[in-house]
Amino acid sequence: MSLSKIKHIVLVLSGKGGVGKSSVTTQLALSLSLAGHSVGVLDVDLTGPSIPRMFGIEDAKVTQAPGGWLPITVHDADQTTGIGSLRVMSLGFLLPRRGDAVVWRGPKKTAMVRQFLSDVFWDELDFLLIDTPPGTSDEHISLAETLLQKARQDQLAGAVVVTTPQAVATADVRKELNFCTKTGIKVIGVIENMSGFICPNCSECTNIFMSGGGEVMANDFGVRFLGRVPIDPQFLVLIETGETPRYPEGTEVNGQDISTPAQEPDADGTVKKTALLVYKYQDCSLASIFKSMTAEVISAAQQTSSG
Ligand code: ADP
Repeated sequence: MSLSKIKHIVLVLSGKGGVGKSSVTTQLALSLSLAGHSVGVLDVDLTGPSIPRMFGIEDAKVTQAPGGWLPITVHDADQTTGIGSLRVMSLGFLLPRRGDAVVWRGPKKTAMVRQFLSDVFWDELDFLLIDTPPGTSDEHISLAETLLQKARQDQLAGAVVVTTPQAVATADVRKELNFCTKTGIKVIGVIENMSGFICPNCSECTNIFMSGGGEVMANDFGVRFLGRVPIDPQFLVLIETGETPRYPEGTEVNGQDISTPAQEPDADGTVKKTALLVYKYQDCSLASIFKSMTAEVISAAQQTSSG
């Protein structure tokens, strides 16, 4: 059974689309890999799977083995740099036209989600992140039920709920938290994405929408607030073009100067360190934010597995 060799399973949920759920999943995966963990990402967002685009593997072809699919390798573990392996399986790989939303009806979607959970050969993984569709639809309920049936209690670390300052004002994210309570899925914490803006020109981080609502809401529900993630256009540049993020001198995020690159290009001309997304991501302002949020996810997962 495909989930048996996975240590920790984390769901990434959001009340509505476009709040950055897939980018949060992507960055949690990169951060976990940078922390030395082996990671799998399962993208079951049928509303428009965007995980393959995030990892630059849209054209990858999945191989079918007897009884299931083999995930795509984004990178292998590297003992010299200490990164863990990263593999991805997305519904997007199975769609005839990439980027299409799935138009199947409920039962077919539900069956697909179930099959996806059991028919991907993950091998050994420290973490499996599941990028779910937005909302609390039938697929979610089915996903939650299937996970509760197929995964061991000690594997199910819980859910990370993503919201934005504006979405907090809507009922969607509260619904999501209620969904977790009803289905018995533990909430690891809430992330407020698109909270502020890192200007690429003027070294300022500006609050364009009122931020802070995510924290208030997390407190209301008695769940942990994992932190705020500003909009960083350099993150988009990294994803879209593969260019290493750069910031004007003096740019500070959370009191840290981020304008000095963490990763200098290798002097000996090798491109190994600079070629992979995971290394380039270290130069993104959001990497340090995700590092501390990831540490909280790791500790929540370890607590669950140790009972
Ligand atoms: P969702 O999965 O919730 O539909 P996405 O993760 O696809 O949302 O995000 C929507 C768009 O916003 C994507 O192009 C993504 O790269 C971008 N985005 C999300 N969060 C950020 C951020 N903090 N900084 C910059 N761009 C972001």
